[in-house]
Amino acid sequence: MNWYDINKRTLPWRGESDPYRIWLSEIMLQQTQTQRVSHYYFKWLKRFPSLKSVAKAKEESLLKVWEGLGYYNRCRNFHSAAKTVIKDYNGKIPNEFELFRALPGIGDYTAAAVLSIAFDVPLPAIDGNIKRVMARMLRIKTITKYNFRRVQKELENFIDKTRPGDFNQALMDLGNQVCRPNQAHCYACPMKSFCRAAQTDHPEQYPRPELSKDIPHYDVVVGLIWKKGRFLILKRENRKHLGGLWELPGGKIDYRESPEKALIREIKEECNVDVILGKNTDPIKHRYSHFAITVRAFHCQLYNGKKVFSNQPNRWITPQQIIEFPFPKANHKLFAKINFEADNV
Ligand code: SF4
Repeated sequence: MNWYDINKRTLPWRGESDPYRIWLSEIMLQQTQTQRVSHYYFKWLKRFPSLKSVAKAKEESLLKVWEGLGYYNRCRNFHSAAKTVIKDYNGKIPNEFELFRALPGIGDYTAAAVLSIAFDVPLPAIDGNIKRVMARMLRIKTITKYNFRRVQKELENFIDKTRPGDFNQALMDLGNQVCRPNQAHCYACPMKSFCRAAQTDHPEQYPRPELSKDIPHYDVVVGLIWKKGRFLILKRENRKHLGGLWELPGGKIDYRESPEKALIREIKEECNVDVILGKNTDPIKHRYSHFAITVRAFHCQLYNGKKVFSNQPNRWITPQQIIEFPFPKANHKLFAKINFEADNV
C-alpha cells in the first residue's frame, strides 16, 4: 500500500466516493483503455450527473453520449440497472454482492471493483493486470479455471480489509506500470521478495501469452436512399451487435455477389422497396473486436416512389441531423467520405 500511496496513477475517478461515478467508470473501463474513457466519463457526467438522471433519460440520449465508446450493451444495461436501483432500492446502490451482481451488465469483476472501491467491501477484483501480476507471483503458466481460483483465494487472504478498493487499484497500477506484459521491472517492484517468477530469468513468460486469433472479414454495402433532401436510416434491433444504434440500410455482400446486386437485395429485404443506384463512395475499413468490415455506400433513389416498409424503426433525416442520432463508428467514417452538398439528390 505504501507503493500505491506514492505511485498511484492520477485518473479522473480516483479518490471518488460517489458510488454512481465509481460504477460508471468501471462500466466504461470494461474492454476500453483508460485514456479513451476519460473524455467520455466527463461528457457523460455533464449530461447525466446522477443515477436518477440516467434512469429518467431516453435510451437514445444515453447512446448518443456513449457513441464511439463501443460495446453499446454496456450502455443499455447501465440504463436498465439504473432504473432497477431507482425503482427497487429507492435510488440507493446496493452494497451487497448478490444484489449488486444481479443487476444487468454486472459481472464478478465489476461487482467486486465497485463494491470494494465505493463501499470498502473486501472483495478482490481480478482484471487483466491483476491476473498477470498474480500469475507471476505464483508462477502460473496458464490461467485455467483451477488456477484462477488459486489466484482468487490468495487475494482473498491478502486483501487489505481496511482499504480493499485501494488494494485492488494498487495491484492494477502495479500491473500497468511495473509488471508490464512484455517487461517486468522487478527492480522497481515492491513484491519482488515474494514473487516466484522474479526468481527466474524471464518473469515475462508467466503467464504464457494467449495466441491472437484471426478475425473474419466481411464486405458490406449500404445505401443512402434519398427523398426530398433527406435520406433513410434504420434503427438496429437491441438484441443485435450495436443494438439501438442507427444505420444506413444494407448488409453483407454474399460470396460471388456484386456490391450493386447485394445492395438492391438487402434494401428489398429490409425496406421492401426497389432502388436505382447512383454514385458510390470510396470504401472505408473498420475493425470491431470479433470481426472487421470494408464498407462502401451507394447513393440511391426509390424506383417507383413506393413507401418504405421496414420492421425496424426508420427515419428520413437531413445530413445536418446526423449529429442527433447515435451511429456506429463505421457509419461516421462513411459520412466523412460523402460530400453531402454535392451528392444530395
Ligand atoms: S517482481 Fe517482477 S514479476 Fe513479480 S510481480 Fe513484481 S514486476 Fe512482476
